[in-house]
Amino acid sequence: MARIEINAEACKSCSYCVLACPTKTIEIGKEVNSKGYLYAQQVNPDKCIGCAMCGHICPESAIEVWK
Ligand code: SF4
Ligand code: SF4
Repeated sequence: MARIEINAEACKSCSYCVLACPTKTIEIGKEVNSKGYLYAQQVNPDKCIGCAMCGHICPESAIEVWK
């Protein structure tokens, strides 16, 4: 089973991961980190296929993927 971990403090709210995820399991949430950015959060984690597109595209290296 695939799993991702998003480092909320590193996120700059660019939405690249949201656009890259083929199963639409990442969204920009409603909570802000200490720098004032709304950070990305995973929704429906059961749908994650571990493709790692999110991790590759994130310019802040804020997402780790395990499969
Ligand atoms: S590993 Fe793939 S399926 Fe899972 S959250 Fe990232 S982009 Fe989406
Ligand atoms: S790609 Fe990285 S910095 Fe951009 S919203 Fe996603 S987690 Fe945040």
